Amino acid sequence: MDIAGAPPNKRARKSPSLEEDITGIRAILSDEFDEEIPLIQAHSCQLETKQQLQAVIQELSQKLPHFQHLKRVQDRSVLICPSSEIGVATTLEQHLEQFAFSEHVLRALCQGVRVVEVPQRMPRLRAQYEKSLKHWPCKFHPNHYSESLRNGSNFSSAQRIFHKRMAQLLVRLSRDVNANRPVGICVDPRQLNIVSIAGAAESSSPHEHCCMLLVDFVARSQEGGATKAELPFTEDSTESLDTTLRGIPKAYYDYLIKDEEYKDLTFGAEKSRDSKGVDPIQGSDNLAKFGPYLCTGYDVYLLQEPCLMCSMALVHSRAKRVFFLRSSENGALATRFQLHSVRELNHHYEVFQFTTQEDQDLT
Ligand SMILES: [Zn+2]
Repeated sequence: MDIAGAPPNKRARKSPSLEEDITGIRAILSDEFDEEIPLIQAHSCQLETKQQLQAVIQELSQKLPHFQHLKRVQDRSVLICPSSEIGVATTLEQHLEQFAFSEHVLRALCQGVRVVEVPQRMPRLRAQYEKSLKHWPCKFHPNHYSESLRNGSNFSSAQRIFHKRMAQLLVRLSRDVNANRPVGICVDPRQLNIVSIAGAAESSSPHEHCCMLLVDFVARSQEGGATKAELPFTEDSTESLDTTLRGIPKAYYDYLIKDEEYKDLTFGAEKSRDSKGVDPIQGSDNLAKFGPYLCTGYDVYLLQEPCLMCSMALVHSRAKRVFFLRSSENGALATRFQLHSVRELNHHYEVFQFTTQEDQDLT
């Protein structure tokens, strides 16, 4: 965005161009991790003696098996059913009659009846759990990995440095090689090799969005790819047997190898394995086992949050993680939509956004 051209009172997003601007990385988790657990109303009763408890719970769990995510009893208060299940013109007693409770249980359920507010579902993170407990005791299965995504401890400091470096690289490549248009980088995280780089074309055709080209250039590194780009690509030297530079346009490669600052970057995609008659190599994931296939196991770094079509292309290509720097008005991973949290999709990648000094200034 052109800062000078933005109206002064509008929140102009400054392009991070200095290393110091990128301050951190945050996981974009689906709302179910971040929202406060909604509350619903429930009818409860108050038992007179503890001795009633066993019979009441036993019949309730058979006849009204609600609230699997909650403790059914708190002190001597017992949850009966969501209040919404009881008809407006019906009393609790009338409602319960249809379930043929034994008489002493029915009598117990109708003692000291009150409406309480209880969490609607099981919390996903500890912070949600602690808030939910204030309303009613609930069950919770702590998930160390989800917690680490939320508090940022999922990355080691070396990994964090590498990710931020890729973000800075995107800014540089966009400015110096692609006329300030969006740029994307695909990395094989096993050796931190740059597999492919793509920049959005000048045309406004969605098929020339940066992600679409990036996915295509990755395919090129696997002897595929559909784009008939006049773009010259990097050629492999004769001694590179295991990896290929075919997915990297020459302009980006030449820019990077000339620069002292990037001397330690490594390039190249593992070559496609001839799958016939070769046993999969032992490894922790499909990339290690079967070799390159689309973006399986690869990380994708994007200057700009991708649109819906590009985000879907990354789903289809089975990217492992997507990192982006700048939000987009039509972004489909955080701004408009969280495509990666749609359960019905058959592949899910993790999404992270780089935070900048400016984000902190605004909060
Ligand atoms: Zn797009």
